[in-house]
Amino acid sequence: MITKWLPNSPSQWLSFNLSKTLVLTEHAAAGDLWLPDGRREELAETIVPTGNLLRLRSQPASEGRPDSLHDRQARLLGDLGQETLRRLRVAVVGLGGVGSILVEELARLGVGELVLIDDETVEKTNLPRLVASELGDIGRLKTQLAARNARRANPDIRLTEIAQRVERPESLEELVRCDWIFLAADGDAARHWVNAAVQQYLVPATQVGVKVPLTPQGEVGQIHTATRLVLPGAGCLWCNRLIDPTRLAIDMHPAEEREAAQYIPGVPAPSVITLNTLAAAEAVNHFVLSVVGLHDEEGDFASVIHRPRTRQRDLQNPRQDPTCRRCTSSGQLGLGRRGSTPF
Ligand SMILES: [Zn+2]
Repeated sequence: MITKWLPNSPSQWLSFNLSKTLVLTEHAAAGDLWLPDGRREELAETIVPTGNLLRLRSQPASEGRPDSLHDRQARLLGDLGQETLRRLRVAVVGLGGVGSILVEELARLGVGELVLIDDETVEKTNLPRLVASELGDIGRLKTQLAARNARRANPDIRLTEIAQRVERPESLEELVRCDWIFLAADGDAARHWVNAAVQQYLVPATQVGVKVPLTPQGEVGQIHTATRLVLPGAGCLWCNRLIDPTRLAIDMHPAEEREAAQYIPGVPAPSVITLNTLAAAEAVNHFVLSVVGLHDEEGDFASVIHRPRTRQRDLQNPRQDPTCRRCTSSGQLGLGRRGSTPF
C-alpha cells in the first residue's frame, strides 16, 4: 500500500508517470502503481497539498472511534479528525525553546507518533524556555526531556528519539517516513536537509523560528516570529533565500571545526518563552486545521510573520524559482532515493 503526494500542479504530478490507472474524483482516488522492480502496488491514499490537506482514498474513511479523553477537542475537530491525528507520524527537528512547546502541543492534541530529533543536552540557560524542565535535567539529552513530556501528555504515544543532528543518516531515515515535519532547529544545515526531505520525499513541513535582532550597541531591532509552510513543488527554502550557502558550508563542518570556521565568533542570541509560544501556536494551529480540513481556503497563505513590537501580522506566499533544481519537476521533486541528497 502506497501513499503518494501530488504537487499543486496536475501537469507536474502527471509527469511522475507512476500510474497508468489512477482515477481521481473530487472525493476519491484509486489506482495501481507499477514500481521500477516490476511489482504492482495498490494506491492507498492520495494527498493533495492545498490549504487543507486533502486525503483521497478509494473508499470513504470510516468514522473515528469516540474518544472521551479528547471529547472537548473532538467537538471542533470531529471524531474522524481526532482519529486522523492519532494515525499521524510527525517529526520535530530541534527540541529547544520552540520545539519543546511543539512537542507538548502535538502530544496533548493526540498525534499518535512523534519523531524527536536533537543532539544537544539541556543547559542551565535553557530552563526558562523548556516545558516542565527542572534543575535536575541539566546535562540530560533534550530528546529525553521531550519524550518525558510527550508521555506525560499522552501515555499511549509512540516515540522515536534520535539524539543526533538532522543530517545524520539515522535522522534522515526516520524523517522521510513522517507525515509532517516541524523544523524548529537553528542552522542552515537543518534547513537544507529538511527542505530536501520535503522535495525529494514529498513530506510537508513547517519551519518555525523567532528572530530578535540586536545591533552591536545592544539596540533591539524588529523582533519577529516566522511560521513558514514548505510544501513539495511549491517554492522551497532555497528559492526563498532562507538558506545561505556560506553558512551551510560552515554548519556542515564537524562540531570541533565549526567554531573555528566562523568569521565572527558566535554569541548566544536572545530567546524568550513568550515569543517561542507565539510561533509554535501559529505553526500547530495551521497543522491541525490543515489535517482535519478546517482551513478557510481564502486564508491559504504559506507564511505568517508576527512583529510583536508593532503588533503587526503579515501573510506571505512563497516564491518559486522556475529553474530551481530542488523543488521543480525538472529537478529533485519526488525523486526519493534517486535524488541528489543521499538519504
Ligand atoms: Zn526551490
